[in-house]
Amino acid sequence: MGNLRHMRIVANRSRYVRDEMPTLVGQPKAPTNSAVAAQVLRLGDDPNSSAAQLADVIRTDPALTSRLLETANAARFALREPVATIGRAVSVLGLRRTRMVALGFQVAAHPDELGGCPFDLKTFWRRSLLRACLAQEIAAEVVPTLADEAYVIGLLQDCGIVHLVQSLGASYAALYATANLSPAAFYKRETQRFAHNHVEAIDAMAEQWSLPQVLADPLGRHHCPVTIGPESSELETLSAVSYFVGSLPLGHEEMLALSDPALRDYAAANLALAEPALQDCLGRADHACREMAPSPAEHLPENLDRRDLVEQANCHLSRATSEAARHIEAVEAECDLIRGQQMDLKSALGQYRELAARDPLTHLLNRGALAEAAMACIRKCRDKNTPQCVFFLDIDDFKVINDDFGHHMGDEVLRVLAGVVSDTVVNGGCAGRYGGEEFIVVLPALDEQESRRRAEGLVDRVRRTSFPDLFSNHSVTCSLGAVWGRPKPGMSAQELFTAADELMYQAKLGGKDRCCFRSFESPDAVLVLAPNGRTVQPAASSLDDVPIRSENAHPTPEEFHRLAVELNRSQTQRFADLRKRERHGLLTPCVVNCFIGGSPTLQGSAAYVRNISTGGLGVLAVRPMIRGEPVEVALQQEDEHSNMLYVAGLVAFCRHVEGRIYEVGIQLLAQAKDPIFSRDPSSAAQRFDWVVAALRTAHDQGEPLKEGA
Ligand code: GH3
Ligand code: MG
Ligand code: MG
Repeated sequence: MGNLRHMRIVANRSRYVRDEMPTLVGQPKAPTNSAVAAQVLRLGDDPNSSAAQLADVIRTDPALTSRLLETANAARFALREPVATIGRAVSVLGLRRTRMVALGFQVAAHPDELGGCPFDLKTFWRRSLLRACLAQEIAAEVVPTLADEAYVIGLLQDCGIVHLVQSLGASYAALYATANLSPAAFYKRETQRFAHNHVEAIDAMAEQWSLPQVLADPLGRHHCPVTIGPESSELETLSAVSYFVGSLPLGHEEMLALSDPALRDYAAANLALAEPALQDCLGRADHACREMAPSPAEHLPENLDRRDLVEQANCHLSRATSEAARHIEAVEAECDLIRGQQMDLKSALGQYRELAARDPLTHLLNRGALAEAAMACIRKCRDKNTPQCVFFLDIDDFKVINDDFGHHMGDEVLRVLAGVVSDTVVNGGCAGRYGGEEFIVVLPALDEQESRRRAEGLVDRVRRTSFPDLFSNHSVTCSLGAVWGRPKPGMSAQELFTAADELMYQAKLGGKDRCCFRSFESPDAVLVLAPNGRTVQPAASSLDDVPIRSENAHPTPEEFHRLAVELNRSQTQRFADLRKRERHGLLTPCVVNCFIGGSPTLQGSAAYVRNISTGGLGVLAVRPMIRGEPVEVALQQEDEHSNMLYVAGLVAFCRHVEGRIYEVGIQLLAQAKDPIFSRDPSSAAQRFDWVVAALRTAHDQGEPLKEGA
């Protein structure tokens, strides 16, 4: 029932706010007790007065209290927790702003008149204060955490009446002045006789003042008998307190009285307060009210000139205004200072960013920054549909420079050549250090011929760069891979780098000091630009092309051995390059499992496998191998006096990329009829363990592996 009524109030309130409140904006503010105004002025004059003293004065006046809460909850102080008590409002606003709020009081022209109607303001203030004190006392018993909120609720409950007297005029004021009308009866009559009642008014005002729900709800329900049970929230209890306090009639000498048995029962049932406890609360509230509220007559001469109060307040306010102006000046100066500091920080940040993007040795862009700059170039070229060119440059035999002349010389070579590299940048392109002695240049908007000319020119310039301070008689060369064209949609900078890197390796394989050039438009045609200006055929790019298979369908072991030794000698550089490719991540490192078996020739014999490309022992188990990589297999006959037999073979394998494992079978071409290749993992694994153990034993015993026949 209570809730229904409340819903109706809320519906009315929205209508009220929409239709009628705006017309009240121009109305005078609610008046402040002139005794309170005088106290505000006194505190304003006292330089030692505190915010707490000011708060004590403000809390005695409904008009000042509502203004204070409204200001503290205004959007510009936007707080996460809305302000619901006077104490917090003062601490949010600070002394200066609180004083400004307090000095904005409006004193009534006459205490017996409001908006031109007879209205006993003194009685109104006293009742408000009494209800505030009582609400606080009762809340202290039943919902102690919200006692300060209860005080505000008691104080503001009837502010709607002041508002309606000013808008509805004399007939409304007369109803309020009717003797012996209980609050409930007054509420009933005003609801019957007028379009709006004071509950709707305070509800709308609470919304205008941005009061939080903890205040707004109980204010809007102060004539709504909320039923409280064990499950009820603190907010509902607070609404029950609001109802009880708001409904209590005035007895003898304008004192709140427990004369209504229905209200007594309500308090007992919903607030668990029996009559003696209620009487105590009433007594304490009455006492507190007397302590707080000096009646105007006690402190002010009857002939007090109210205009004088306003003038004084005006003086205070203009003083406060100039203080505020000074304060603004100080804040502005501080702002300038902070802005300056911010600019310094910004430029420092820019410098740090620049530093972080640069390689400290060459001052070129480092790998990360290079990828970003390259990506920006790619995007631009794609947008304009223009081609672009990427160079990947690697200094030839740089390790030799380090080894022969020392690392500091190596560094100097890097620095000088970084200058040469960065000089090639045109058209808003970029250059960077990709790795140790590797550089990348991105050149947008060049045609194919011009790109090729520049790639060649760069190789040429590196060759002709002299280092007289470092070493005479030593020329430094580089290998360069260049890709040109319109990048495919979705192509990343890294993909372009990798494409150019692969071409750079082709240049290495082709003999170094040259450039390999490829166009996206004709991806299969690789152009090799040799140092003498001649265009040559590209070198074989994979070991599949290495002519290590014997022409003979059934080559003899001797033939294979000769082939292996020859490969080892002639392809050293090639295998070294392959190792580098592995290091560059172009080939996936993996674990190799070697399975040997299936051939009667090997059974019962120890087998040693030497990887010709690395020239090491024991490499099979841990080293990644490349498809087609040649190996040399030494077979020891069961008879330990017999000779070693060397056979060159090819590694054949099934690749398991996910597990990064290579299963390797040794296909002995010497036994072409019956290749030794096992697909049975358990027997192959056994044999492999056995091979490794034999290998270790041979190694531990210091037995040299036979090199060649
Ligand atoms: P290739 O012609 O095949 O490119 O042979 P390379 O010797 O130039 O290439 P490799 O990759 O074998 O060696 C590169 C060397 O560069 C190894 C590494 O120690 C050296 N290096 C990498 N960064 C720096 C650096 O900042 N300063 C110096 N002085 N040396 C570096
Ligand atoms: Mg390199
Ligand atoms: Mg190099």
